[in-house]
Amino acid sequence: NTSLVWFRRDLRCFDHAALYAALKQSKSVYCVFIFDKDILDLLPSKDRRVHFIDQSVRELAAEIEKMGGNLIVRYGSPKQEIPKLALELQAQAVLVNHDYEPQAIQRDSQIKLSLAQIDCDFLSFKDQVIFENDEVLSQAGTPFSIFTPYKNAWLKKFLAGGDDFYCKPYPVQTYAEKLSKYSCAEFPDLGRMGFAAIDQSELALQGGMKAGAILFEDFLSRIHNYELARNFPAIKGPSYLSVHLRFGTVSIRHLVREAINCVRTGNAHQGAQVWLSELIWRDFYFMILQHHPRVVDRSFKADYDAIVWESGTHAEQVFIAWCEGKTGYPLIDAAMLQLNNTGYMHNRLRMVTACFLVKDLGIDWRWGERYFALHLNDYDLSANNGGWQWAASTGCDAQPYFRIFNPITQSEKFDPQGKFIRRYLPILARLENKQIHAPWMLSSSVLKQAGITLGENYSEPIIAHDEARKTTLARYAVVKK
Ligand code: FAD
Repeated sequence: NTSLVWFRRDLRCFDHAALYAALKQSKSVYCVFIFDKDILDLLPSKDRRVHFIDQSVRELAAEIEKMGGNLIVRYGSPKQEIPKLALELQAQAVLVNHDYEPQAIQRDSQIKLSLAQIDCDFLSFKDQVIFENDEVLSQAGTPFSIFTPYKNAWLKKFLAGGDDFYCKPYPVQTYAEKLSKYSCAEFPDLGRMGFAAIDQSELALQGGMKAGAILFEDFLSRIHNYELARNFPAIKGPSYLSVHLRFGTVSIRHLVREAINCVRTGNAHQGAQVWLSELIWRDFYFMILQHHPRVVDRSFKADYDAIVWESGTHAEQVFIAWCEGKTGYPLIDAAMLQLNNTGYMHNRLRMVTACFLVKDLGIDWRWGERYFALHLNDYDLSANNGGWQWAASTGCDAQPYFRIFNPITQSEKFDPQGKFIRRYLPILARLENKQIHAPWMLSSSVLKQAGITLGENYSEPIIAHDEARKTTLARYAVVKK
């Protein structure tokens, strides 16, 4: 029998659940990737992620060829392309890995129905997480809504599996001879899909499995320091693997296996344990999205939907200032410029900028969430939504809503020498370390000496934090009832 493996956010040909299952159960296996018109047509013509995907798909195609098959690459709507191709190949099954986003679930169920009409099965596998859906539940048999007890239950289940049962790789190579070649494989061009060329140097990230593996190797040599370094945006502390996790050019099972190895061997024990927790956060937010798809546009804690956010022209103006890195708060501005210039933003800064937008400027978290969705290379609905709702205190968080980050003390604490700020705001470079966090507090002579004119070459603060704090506490008071 013949199967078709449809690659989506799993752009690798090793340790791949659907590919392995297809190879094991079929005589002949075809592989396809579709540049999804329904998603891509909504994007601006310059989008770094599309180039990341393009690089990754090209490498995937080359690697599948080395294994004896090839990758069919199309540009179109999967709802039409997949049934059409399945019919042409006379496939008995289309195999995919689960996609947990509500729109993707809807798309997949439509495709499943279309395939049923041609007697073709649609089979879906867990691949991008360690535990999904109902696999980690509380003792009462209900889904968790707080991270720490979820993490403890996750670890308990994982360790009870023994012998790394839950992160064993799928040995795709074992049956690779079943890969078949499609006769007229061609590769659609990004230009023809309406995307502008991008200067490679602008693309500070490299797509593909090899690039993901190199990043991970590099991170393993630093993982011992992760716990300390991860909070300081000027330092190379985190792994930078999020975009590879997003598009599946690395395998979550491989990452967890290596992290657990570091924990077990005592090598980098502490750092690896904290990093493993971050990977568990990822599973956690996927699970939240599966159980509560309404979080896509509603508060996880329903009573928080009563909050009235700022609106009107002023709200729009301060939102634009936030987007453009012109709030007058150097750490916030540098962080937004990091996002705008590279598509990445450090985790600490995601928390601080998100909190600033919602709790200093009083802007609806959904505005910020959408902006991040458009600009983050690693944009993932579940983690982004989870992160924004966490920052807005509307989500799964044990902390009370009156946790409000102070953007100045965050700056002094996590960028004490202003190294990160100077990288993105060279106009502030001549200020001393202690002065750089709140330039509006400096005397005019100090500013003049440093070549800064507030309101001209650097913004005046668009809000006073202490005042904003009071307004926010009043705004959130509606949820106390
Ligand atoms: P590392 O510190 O090396 O962490 C390793 C991996 O763990 C990450 O690659 C990621 O897959 C996972 N991870 C880490 N922290 C979290 C978290 N809080 N929630 C879920 N997974 C996590 N992460 C995304 O992948 N996509 C997003 O769209 C996204 N949006 C966010 C928005 C906000 C407002 C906040 C506060 C956080 C967001 N995060 C998002 C989580 C986190 O900031 C990024 O995963 C992290 O900064 C990516 O960098 P890294 O790969 O170097 O992380």
